[in-house]
Amino acid sequence: MKRDIVIIGSGVAAAAIASKILNHQPAASILMLEAGGRVKLRDFALFQNYLLTNKLPADSRSIYDSFADLPYADRDKPGENVSLGTTLIPLNGARLMVLGGSTVHWGGWSFRLKPEDFKLSTNTGKGVDWAIDYQTLEPYYCEAEHYIGVSGDSGDTVTPRTRDYPFREFPFTLEDSLHIESFKKLGFGYSHLPIARHGFSNTISSHAPCQTTGTCKYCPFGARFAAANHLDDLRMYGGYPNFTIQHNTVVEEISMDSKSRARAVRIFNKENSTRETVEAETIIIASGAIESPKLLLRSVSEFWKNGIGNDNDLVGRNFITHPYFSYKAVLPENDLNLRPEMGFPTLVSRHFDSEAEQGAGKFILVNPPSSPFVESSDNVMKPDVSLFMKAGKTREEIAGLLAGRVNVQIQGLIEVFSEHKNRVVNSDKRNRFGMLETVVNFTEDEEFKERINQVKATADKIFEQMGAADTVEERPLSWRADHAACTARMSKSDQTGVVDRNLKIHGIENLYVCSNASFASSGAVNPTLTLAALSLRLGDHLVKRM
Ligand SMILES: Cc1cc2nc3c(=O)[nH]c(=O)nc-3n(C[C@H](O)[C@H](O)[C@H](O)COP(=O)(O)OP(=O)(O)OC[C@H]3O[C@@H](n4cnc5c(N)ncnc54)[C@H](O)[C@@H]3O)c2cc1C
Ligand code: SF4
Repeated sequence: MKRDIVIIGSGVAAAAIASKILNHQPAASILMLEAGGRVKLRDFALFQNYLLTNKLPADSRSIYDSFADLPYADRDKPGENVSLGTTLIPLNGARLMVLGGSTVHWGGWSFRLKPEDFKLSTNTGKGVDWAIDYQTLEPYYCEAEHYIGVSGDSGDTVTPRTRDYPFREFPFTLEDSLHIESFKKLGFGYSHLPIARHGFSNTISSHAPCQTTGTCKYCPFGARFAAANHLDDLRMYGGYPNFTIQHNTVVEEISMDSKSRARAVRIFNKENSTRETVEAETIIIASGAIESPKLLLRSVSEFWKNGIGNDNDLVGRNFITHPYFSYKAVLPENDLNLRPEMGFPTLVSRHFDSEAEQGAGKFILVNPPSSPFVESSDNVMKPDVSLFMKAGKTREEIAGLLAGRVNVQIQGLIEVFSEHKNRVVNSDKRNRFGMLETVVNFTEDEEFKERINQVKATADKIFEQMGAADTVEERPLSWRADHAACTARMSKSDQTGVVDRNLKIHGIENLYVCSNASFASSGAVNPTLTLAALSLRLGDHLVKRM
């Protein structure tokens, strides 16, 4: 079998590249290979099942913790993979092995990086600079916001923009008002949180707008972006005769014709337990920040004795992720009767995501959709009236609970910096997906403890302004690998990174890595909008080469 292009993985990166190329070259021969199976999306019965069985995401403290609808075999489980180093990096819950990849469960927070993020080394002496600047990526940020359907505030000046968001921002909720008042008193800037939810538009859109039902992990309407939906649309309605997606197929290795030219991928078909070689003119590794470097490392040949692109021992190195913090404090009275309105956040402060904070580690502050909540002694419940009703509380009891003592929260992400010693490699153990497990070796740097104390002190000040007291860490700092990045990082030369400004592996003419692995650094914000922008830019680059 021979194809023009083989794409390994089927997440947002793979979907954006394929749709860009097919848009320009409808007859292009593209094979997309996905290790996982398929799950049902946009299924009204599933949505009804949520409602009838009482197992909505709201049953959980976090929408990511409850998988009420499906057994979800295709995620890492606790106990799989190994985390070495002094900082535990669990992979369970951090990614999906499924058609459509991790956006099947993502939250959809869709931030741009800031211009200074592209110049980390120049500004701080830490890490490396990106091999492109903000201006180069800006048109693709605009395109990515339209591709994944972001609702945001086009007047927001936090990052420069040349085109409006496709959909208007969601308004701040009433419960945002507590945080907003505190931010104002402290002089902290704040803005609408851009989120990948389709809104109402004046143009004809094939997507239903968000109805704020709050069941976003399986949006019944497809109003929240999920790459699986876009791939289904491409396959079923695109009219692309030579575009094929093969799921349940693991790419085990990439073979080379010479030092500078990739020839083929060796695949294992899990459905019939057969192995096959697929040749391609161009190969794109879009397998996420953990699997992409692992695939390169295990592709050993006479040309690349330490794995493809790894002559300088950089593949899998420089691993980072975003620690996620969550603080709560007690508000003695909830006289405004505030309770969560939405299934996703609407308010963010990027005040500490600034050039001035870059050297110490930028951070963002978010009012999460679970705030404020009532914590009762017998069980923990959010102030969701339906949950109180289900627990048999009377109207008076519910009114009393909501108006009384509640917890308020502040959550967010902090930037950390790449270090050569932190890395991912292949384990020799094979997992349920037929793939080699992962060894993550990560130790947070010594300055991190001081930085997290500063973040907590900032949360303290905000709570104090609200009249809330006793700030505590609500959940242990999460180092989960949702935002794993930099493991095949972009750089100007092969001495400092693995891929060039076009995501092509240094020294190889037809092999690309398009994932958060290709980031040079990742600032303080969620990565996926930047990844979608890079993917659309790569699509353009490939079209020009065809
Ligand atoms: C619960 C959760 C919430 C998140 N929320 C946000 C958010 O709000 N905002 C944000 O910006 N980001 C968020 N993220 C991160 C976001 O989902 C990822 O940045 C994004 O999905 C990465 O896309 P990708 O295409 O690179 O990889 P993935 O979506 O992980 O897809 C990679 C695919 O490649 C397949 N694959 C891997 N190796 C092989 C192989 N050898 N052969 C064949 N196939 C292979 C995998 O099975 C997988 O399906 C969240 C992630 C999670 C898990
Ligand atoms: S809140 Fe919006 S995105 Fe979430 S499930 Fe409802 S319609 Fe879908």
